[in-house]
Amino acid sequence: MRFRIPLISVLNLILLMPFFRIAQSVAQGVDFSTYPVYDGNDLGVTWSQAATRIRVWAPTADAVRWQFYSADLGGAPDREVYLRQDAGGTWVATLPGNWEGSYYTVQAQFDGAWLAEVPDPYARAVGRNGQRGQIFNPQKTNPPGWEQDQRVKQSSYTDIVLYEGHVRDLTVGPGSGIKHQGKFLGLSERGTRSPEGLPTGLDHLVELGITHLHLLPFFDYGSLDETLEQPGYNWGYDPLNYNAPEGTYCTNPADGASRIRELKATVQALHSAGIGLVMDVVYNHTFSVAESVFSQLVPGYYYRQWPEGNFSDASGCGNEVASERPMVRKFMRESLQYWASEYHLDGFRFDLMGIHDQQTMRLIREDMNSMDPHIFLYGEGWTAGPSPLAEEARAIKRLTWQLPGIAAFSDDIRDGIKGHWSDEKDPGFASGKAGLGMTVKAGLVGGIAHPQVDFSKVNYSPKPWVGTPSQVINYVSCHDNHTLYDKVAISAPGASEPRRLAIQRLANTIVLTAQGVPFLHAGVEMAYTKGGDHNSYKSSDQVNALDWNRMADYADLVAYHRDLIALRKAHPVFRMDDPELIRRVLTFPETGSEHVVVQHADAAAAGDSWKELVLIFNGSDQPFSYTLPSGDWTLVGNGRVVVSAPGEGLLTLSGSVEVAPSAAYILAR
Ligand code: CA
Repeated sequence: MRFRIPLISVLNLILLMPFFRIAQSVAQGVDFSTYPVYDGNDLGVTWSQAATRIRVWAPTADAVRWQFYSADLGGAPDREVYLRQDAGGTWVATLPGNWEGSYYTVQAQFDGAWLAEVPDPYARAVGRNGQRGQIFNPQKTNPPGWEQDQRVKQSSYTDIVLYEGHVRDLTVGPGSGIKHQGKFLGLSERGTRSPEGLPTGLDHLVELGITHLHLLPFFDYGSLDETLEQPGYNWGYDPLNYNAPEGTYCTNPADGASRIRELKATVQALHSAGIGLVMDVVYNHTFSVAESVFSQLVPGYYYRQWPEGNFSDASGCGNEVASERPMVRKFMRESLQYWASEYHLDGFRFDLMGIHDQQTMRLIREDMNSMDPHIFLYGEGWTAGPSPLAEEARAIKRLTWQLPGIAAFSDDIRDGIKGHWSDEKDPGFASGKAGLGMTVKAGLVGGIAHPQVDFSKVNYSPKPWVGTPSQVINYVSCHDNHTLYDKVAISAPGASEPRRLAIQRLANTIVLTAQGVPFLHAGVEMAYTKGGDHNSYKSSDQVNALDWNRMADYADLVAYHRDLIALRKAHPVFRMDDPELIRRVLTFPETGSEHVVVQHADAAAAGDSWKELVLIFNGSDQPFSYTLPSGDWTLVGNGRVVVSAPGEGLLTLSGSVEVAPSAAYILAR
């Protein structure tokens, strides 16, 4: 759900028309199921002191050659090696000697014409702009102590608290105090402070208490020029080389091995701080069809087509990758296995996961389970356009229950709480819109069936769509569309600034107290604004980067999010992962108001230190009176402050409680 124009420039289109024509013509009337497949696990380049080997899959090529260069850009090849045909449609060559540091390309010939020179699809190290692969010694990419580095571990996915950010957004903004601005290493720095002395960067993430940092794409993408000192800004949803880190995030993008080392050092720093790293992966489309590494070696094969032979475009970015074809599926699986094992990554977020077929996603889950079941997988359970893949075969949100161990974003709770994603003036439950109580309840139970949740009254999903709450990502804002601050400003124009902040606190209180996996958009805790820019994918740093001065300006909001996260982590009643238990523990008394949802919980039954919990969410601009069950209750949160220390609260209440407008009250005993 993004609005991006195809990123290929007009000039490139003209230059690449010959290749495009070849790709098109091969796509028409070709039965890709007749292509041989290769079963081995040695595709790509394999280095040793004694020799470097290569194996590429190009079953329809007439010839394949391997060219060597001393530089990552420009110049003529030093050496040229022709590959020989081998098993399963592959081509191989072995070059004796130590070729560490050399750059290379592969090139395939069809009907007498050579297509473009490219790194092989499996290239793990590349030079600037990803134009050439680089041969490297994997041992030299490990920072000191890497052998001891480990993924973070939670006993359930519902223990995870996700925080979605971008390398530049988190490091280049005013007052970051970070040395490596715009670089992976900027996220490894400790002790960084804002001008007011407040923690920034990694120290801020630690203080906030999130468990996983989810970074927007950091594989090598195509839209920024890596030869420039100031490459500019892009979200990075334009994949070029899937298995190599993006160069603009590295201090020396010409050196493929140092790219790897710097990213590993950053993973290591995050892990040392107890934070996992989730990679946003974009296997659903490539930067372009004509230019892609895939098209130069096996024209047509990697992309879906309509029966007429034209490429389909379920990504909205000009093409869609055919995950169901054996060698595409193999590529995705091996790419993910590589990132998980080589970089110790803690999870993957699949962009437009609905474009992928379910079988591929199930196999990816199995692959991850065999490595480490803690690796968390989730994605966008939708497409951005029509696809030739049958709907029942897609990994879409409605069918998430068929994908155990894989979660999908809940657009129900997202738009239910804050209002419609594209109708910017539309308010939601938190900003005072009536009739969304059932949607909030469906979110609170984690999307499962519950006797008091009538899905026919839920905004989008007509029935439960998950097997367990660990398959639901609860959120109100992310990189797409307006930030929460901007959305509330536009959709509640008459509200005062204090009330707008109250609405934002109420919105993420629902997210952080609901069953499922909570997801926060980086900066939401400091009232992140992009000045009303709802699609900032290539906007400037001035628009996108977090302004760390807001840490002091919105200190109460930061503290509120920090304390709410701590409360969630301290209380298992917010993190149940057993549907039967949830149905038993959570009940929803009638409130008599279209603007109020109340949840009671038999917390003790969930193994909590509290016996009972009452949540009152008041989305209206008027106070709301609620009569508590008899006895004394501790007010733990009043919509402005949360007390996370065990056994403590703001005050003791009994009888009737008056809940402030746009506030969430948390009461326990
Ligand atoms: Ca790049």
